[in-house]
Amino acid sequence: MEKSTITQKNNTLMDIIKKSAEALGGVDNIRNLHTVILYGYAQYAYMWGGGNITASVDAPQKLLEATYLQRVWDFDNDRFQLKERRNMLFPFAAEFGHAFFPLNQILDGDIAYNKLPDGSTSRVGEFLQDPMTVDGRRIRKLWSLTNPVSMINAILNNKAAVNNLRTVNGLDIMDITVDKNTSLVFAINRDSKIPQYVQWFIPQTNLGETTLTTTFTGYMPFDGIQLPMGYNTKMDFRDTVYFKMYVDGYKIDKTIENLKAPDSIVDAIVPEGEFIPPLELEIIDDGVWRIAGIGGTTVIEFEDHLTIFELYWGQLQAKQIIEKANTLVPNKKVTELIISHYHFDHTGGFRAAVAAGLKVYTNRGNEAVLRELAERQTPHFEDVLSKEANRKFEFVPIDEHLRLSDNKTTIDIYRVISNNHMADAVFVYIPDKKIFLDSDVATAAYDWQLWPNSYLDNLDHYGLEVEKVSTVHEKVMTHNEVLEYIEGGRKRVLERSKKAEEMNEYHPGYPIFQTREE
Ligand SMILES: [Zn+2]
Repeated sequence: MEKSTITQKNNTLMDIIKKSAEALGGVDNIRNLHTVILYGYAQYAYMWGGGNITASVDAPQKLLEATYLQRVWDFDNDRFQLKERRNMLFPFAAEFGHAFFPLNQILDGDIAYNKLPDGSTSRVGEFLQDPMTVDGRRIRKLWSLTNPVSMINAILNNKAAVNNLRTVNGLDIMDITVDKNTSLVFAINRDSKIPQYVQWFIPQTNLGETTLTTTFTGYMPFDGIQLPMGYNTKMDFRDTVYFKMYVDGYKIDKTIENLKAPDSIVDAIVPEGEFIPPLELEIIDDGVWRIAGIGGTTVIEFEDHLTIFELYWGQLQAKQIIEKANTLVPNKKVTELIISHYHFDHTGGFRAAVAAGLKVYTNRGNEAVLRELAERQTPHFEDVLSKEANRKFEFVPIDEHLRLSDNKTTIDIYRVISNNHMADAVFVYIPDKKIFLDSDVATAAYDWQLWPNSYLDNLDHYGLEVEKVSTVHEKVMTHNEVLEYIEGGRKRVLERSKKAEEMNEYHPGYPIFQTREE
């Protein structure tokens, strides 16, 4: 392109930005803003929409709430703060899910760090993700620009470059580049000149990657600056609304907390990459192992292959677990994966299974979502499933029961019943060893047993006698240890509901549904 044409295009783009700035309160006013504080509350789709009762697109969406929410922009110092308390809006079995844990995430220039409630601080790396959340320097920068005024302020102050104008459906759409890892798409309404949405991309272990589009609604003036009262962030996965932010109000150019990174943070080593604990191998019985990392995978030896139960948490760990399992028996490789249920922590390693060509067994209800996940492409990021990978894995549906048997081993895969955490789920039973492979039937979490009868109901329903239990979330336990674990959690949950009711609080999941008399 001729230099003059480029200049002309840039002029047109800057013209659009300036007209939008005018509509939002004036070019100089927006360019010279010092601080903005947003007050509100929000809801997140739990596990990116991957934590519902089943994987059906029509399953009711479970939500996580954020309260005491603030976003703080310090434009003079190029700093941003994300503050909120988090609580699950559905019964969660571990205490942390209902602790209203305060998040205080700060970005000071290129330095991301956290402030903990006790006042201590910790440095945060470039990018972190797991089946529950996403964070890091890059993500905080992207959130900081997911606000029409901060975006226009950044462009007017040459902190973000704007390029590639196109017009679609009455919107002026452009690319925004902050640095080599950080770019966004920005859309301004051609008629009103008001910014309509911001869009960006993130890697995600189950989805490969996902596009987040935040639409701004309900602009209102605060000290002459127009700001949205609603932020709706949609994913390109089933059109799920990942994040809904409801604004109570904004304060403009008020004094804010000093967000400068302390020297100890500036000098701290930047954490790199994804944390995977060293994998630990445990022999459960002849031909049965448990490989523990974040969560546990049980490996079962057959005559000419290995079958694994569960690939928890993330792609990278899953790859390592498959590699480790492949070393257990000479000349026997992992060829099959049994998945208990579709929840995104339990399918965090699924893409690695597809990449390894494993045959997949799970409840029939999970086939559609697994095929959908496997087909998802990753144009912007590296992924365990490359473009060339064969994504057409072999799927074996389980309805009530399926037996896998050869001259060495027999296992039974059964449909889970009596469980309000997962409807399309399976567990595995090894009859001649009386081993039960559990994923969230008995051992979802230590603190609270919200479905305390599920384990015994399943054993009774299928007439099973259990001696040992290999779990995903806990260790290998005896049957009696599992019964004690459940009873402890059941007592704690009854205690919790009693206390709450005394305070006139009535939480979802209570009173606990029990199928057995005390
Ligand atoms: Zn689980």
